[in-house]
Amino acid sequence: MVILLALPWGTVPNSTYVKIHSCNCVAFRLDDIQDYFLNQVQLGVMEVFDKRNAGLTVGIIGNYFGEDPTIVHYVKSRIDDPRLEVANHGWNHENLSEFSKEEQSTLIQRSNEKITQILESRPAILIAPYNIVNTDTFSAAKQNGIRYISANVTYDPPPYDIRGSQSLYRLPETVLMGDLNADNTSWITFDHQKVFSEVEHSLNQFGFAVVTLHPQDFAVRQMLQYQNIVDNNHIGELEMLLDKIEDRGIKIVTIDEIIRHTSELEVQVRSLQDRKGNVEEESS
Ligand SMILES: [Zn+2]
Repeated sequence: MVILLALPWGTVPNSTYVKIHSCNCVAFRLDDIQDYFLNQVQLGVMEVFDKRNAGLTVGIIGNYFGEDPTIVHYVKSRIDDPRLEVANHGWNHENLSEFSKEEQSTLIQRSNEKITQILESRPAILIAPYNIVNTDTFSAAKQNGIRYISANVTYDPPPYDIRGSQSLYRLPETVLMGDLNADNTSWITFDHQKVFSEVEHSLNQFGFAVVTLHPQDFAVRQMLQYQNIVDNNHIGELEMLLDKIEDRGIKIVTIDEIIRHTSELEVQVRSLQDRKGNVEEESS
């Protein structure tokens, strides 16, 4: 299979073929699922994925989850649906790297037990709070039966091996749907064109893409004051992003499905220099 990769930053006309392992897929991570926090927005985002039968991985904060009927009933109602995958997002959304290996293991275990008790499904994915991990996090995760860990490319730098038969897969966030602005005064939701080009970039570079979403991305807001109401413009950007991904034949999967979809692909890039430049661009 040959895929022509669009590399808009390339200027060298010569093209070349390279073999990479790729899933030709993108996983979406909805972080910070918890009781009574913008719950109509959390629900609205999950419904967007459900409507089009697209995969979504939700990161649940164990100690903040279980009492809000709106969120708990919804997640429970879809627990047998393979398109919604539940992940552990810490016990109290703590920075795990501040704890010893034993303490990290206890925090992961507590969250997994609470989620299992409520949903009768045990998470095999750890979405690291603040995307921060250290080497102890990997051992602590393994001790608790975690098979996939998602941090980001800063705290868990490349390379990533997405071929089969490993005990723990590292599948970090590679793209963000939104973020705080430079002076931390407001939350920005990026437009779908920008996010889509980063998805393509991530696929070229790593063979997969993980896009992080936060409830804040889709809430009506003013500066950092959020209302528990879905913002139709921001949800519209997400819908257009998903349309574009589907139109290009890129699969939308849950994080645990990335490995299953991975195979060796021959891809055409304009030059090897482009691909190298790519890597340097990402690491800056
Ligand atoms: Zn979080």
